[in-house]
Amino acid sequence: CGSNSISLKIMPKYGNVKNIIGVISGKGGVGKSTVTGILAIQLAKKGYKVGVLDADITGPSMPRFFGINEQRAKMVPVDENNFKIQPVETKLGIKVISMNLLTQEEDQPVIWRGPVITGVLNQFYTDTMWGELDYLLIDMPPGTGDTALTVMQSFPIKELIIVSTPQDMVSMIVKKVVIMAQKIGANIRGLVENMAYIECEDCGKKMKVFSKKSSEEFAQYIGLPLLCELPINLDLTEALEEGKAEQYVMESPLYDQLFGALY
Ligand code: ADP
Repeated sequence: CGSNSISLKIMPKYGNVKNIIGVISGKGGVGKSTVTGILAIQLAKKGYKVGVLDADITGPSMPRFFGINEQRAKMVPVDENNFKIQPVETKLGIKVISMNLLTQEEDQPVIWRGPVITGVLNQFYTDTMWGELDYLLIDMPPGTGDTALTVMQSFPIKELIIVSTPQDMVSMIVKKVVIMAQKIGANIRGLVENMAYIECEDCGKKMKVFSKKSSEEFAQYIGLPLLCELPINLDLTEALEEGKAEQYVMESPLYDQLFGALY
């Protein structure tokens, strides 16, 4: 892919975005969207103005995380040929745009080729009415495919956060993403190790589930600083199922401890 071969960065037309943080993983299902959501809530809790762009077009899950999947983003006409997008706001005032906020039915798949997806993502960024944002978090398409690469190169991303689970170490899949990001000159903040352990409800003992290796060992192997390790948390899963994840994360001291020092 060469280094920094595309240097043309796109800009939002309806607002000002100070910092873009990309959250990426080697594959789907490791908790990338969950980490994006938790980070967004932590930042909003600190008083920052926050937006979330769900760039995982084929597996969009941010609306469900925030319990706004029944709502719809609005297309507001600007002139005969153009429109701007009004994002959906969560209870905490986080502005969210996602393919699932635009399609008629949440379960309809997006059957588009790469260039079309890339065009839509660019529009999500440039045409959404973001207003003044301190942080825009991007739930990146997983892996090293065309869409992830294009987003990394055309969005002015300040830094990337890599999310992995302990199983990724075996498959090397996360290392591929790290190498891709390094090759195009992206700034990587570090690694969040998700599902690193489960805590015993009775004695509080932390038990490793997928690998005996520590998260520190894994981060060292990947060559990144370990930002934090997240437990498998069934209370979070339950809150998600009930569409109450935002409130749960906001009130949970666990996530203050884990993410408090990050921004
Ligand atoms: P990705 O964005 O990487 O595809 P998700 O964030 O959508 O992954 O997570 C996949 C599934 O795993 C979701 O059902 C989510 O609720 C669950 N999950 C993710 N992280 C955790 C965690 N730390 N504890 C419990 N469940 C989790």
